[in-house]
Amino acid sequence: MIVLGAGPAGLVLANLLLDQGIDCVVLERADRAHVETRARAGFLAAHTVRILERHGLADGLRLRGKVHSTCEFRTEEGRFRLDYGALGSGETHVVYPQQDLVSDLLARFVGAGGQVRFSAEATEVRDADGDRPTVHVRESDGRPARWQGRYVAGCDGRHGAARRSLPPGAVRRRHIDHGISWLGLLAEAPPSLDAVGYAVHARGFAGHMARTDTITRYYLQVARGTPADSWSEERIWDELDLRTGAKEYGPLTRGRIVERAIVDLESDVLDPLRHGRLLLAGDAAALISPSAAKGANLAVLEAELLAGALGDALQRNDGAGLDAYSAKCLAHVWRAQEFSRWMIELLHDPSGWHGGPAGPTGPTGPIGSTGPIGPTGPEDVDGPSEESLFLDSLRRSRLASLATSRRQQDWFATRYVGL
Ligand SMILES: Cc1cc2nc3c(=O)[nH]c(=O)nc-3n(C[C@H](O)[C@H](O)[C@H](O)COP(=O)(O)OP(=O)(O)OC[C@H]3O[C@@H](n4cnc5c(N)ncnc54)[C@H](O)[C@@H]3O)c2cc1C
Repeated sequence: MIVLGAGPAGLVLANLLLDQGIDCVVLERADRAHVETRARAGFLAAHTVRILERHGLADGLRLRGKVHSTCEFRTEEGRFRLDYGALGSGETHVVYPQQDLVSDLLARFVGAGGQVRFSAEATEVRDADGDRPTVHVRESDGRPARWQGRYVAGCDGRHGAARRSLPPGAVRRRHIDHGISWLGLLAEAPPSLDAVGYAVHARGFAGHMARTDTITRYYLQVARGTPADSWSEERIWDELDLRTGAKEYGPLTRGRIVERAIVDLESDVLDPLRHGRLLLAGDAAALISPSAAKGANLAVLEAELLAGALGDALQRNDGAGLDAYSAKCLAHVWRAQEFSRWMIELLHDPSGWHGGPAGPTGPTGPIGSTGPIGPTGPEDVDGPSEESLFLDSLRRSRLASLATSRRQQDWFATRYVGL
């Protein structure tokens, strides 16, 4: 078995294959230090934790992860909290940084005798429709190499070789650009509230998500095309304070910004998640916007399904699991996509939904101005369109139901944590 990519999908899969006695190698483009320090996800849903526990992969997160069960919505009119752990299905998250999970999974795999080739970039998967697919690789010294196996698992993300190697027409791709961009930040600062914070503001969305006792993730909605380094740290903190209502609820705890990146909110889904002996999992199978923190959770779920199906195929000569793999995953993927889109619609002012060109530096209005100055577009000149005013009223109604209706809160809690 050849596994492309040492992210959550590839490493969960590789561990589960090794546990079944299936010989596999993981080919990873980056070096080990990069893989173990790349900060991305942090919220692992109860379902994900159960999968990891079931296979003895949860020791680190049980020791160092923090159970999380509350989110807080703030608007210019007020705020409300949802203790989602006490609503709906009563499930919670464990906050555990993705890079720590990846480190744990790597240590477990290598410790059990698994082989990972770092700095080995897959360039192409060939003969996926034959019996012995081949992966062409560029090794760290630039030399080409080839690996041949019975199956190839494409867990190498949205820009990986697995996707690139799919022949035209082999799979369908459904894609959406949500027209929203976030400046994703990691701050060397303790969390400022004991909840996930969602600030819905006329200047744009702002998010607060705990990571560890000393590191917090923040998001600021910015105009499409805004360079990640165009905001000073002071401006970032001022804007976060403004959108999260520091005057009413107290300022955020500031700290050095240690990482910043622009995240254009996009989603896509491939169908089927298989071409011959090339199987796709994780972001390689479906990209999901981080608005509802589903990506890493889907990656783990798909890896477990794929490991079971591959075990059946390789050890019991039973291909039924592989035949059913794609449809099983896609049911979860589309549920997650639907909820992520719902969150996007809840969190963003529709007048800022532009996929097109944005202003050169994002929000430019003075702090404290009342107009929507975040994303730019035609409405910035003429004011919000009739349609976006209508959509905004729908959004406010959605927020009001979430604040007041127990049924809506139960629904939200179930979908927020569930897959
Ligand atoms: C800012 C941000 C915040 C997020 N927050 C959350 C969250 O809170 N909860 C959540 O569930 N999800 C979250 N996500 C999504 C989550 O991080 C991804 O869905 C998850 O990383 C997918 O795992 P994966 O293993 O499929 O892919 P990846 O983690 O992308 O791993 C793919 C691996 O393949 C390697 N690779 C790529 N190309 C090649 C190649 N050609 N050859 C060999 N190796 C290759 C890469 O180096 C990488 O190591 C977030 C994402 C972002 C960007």
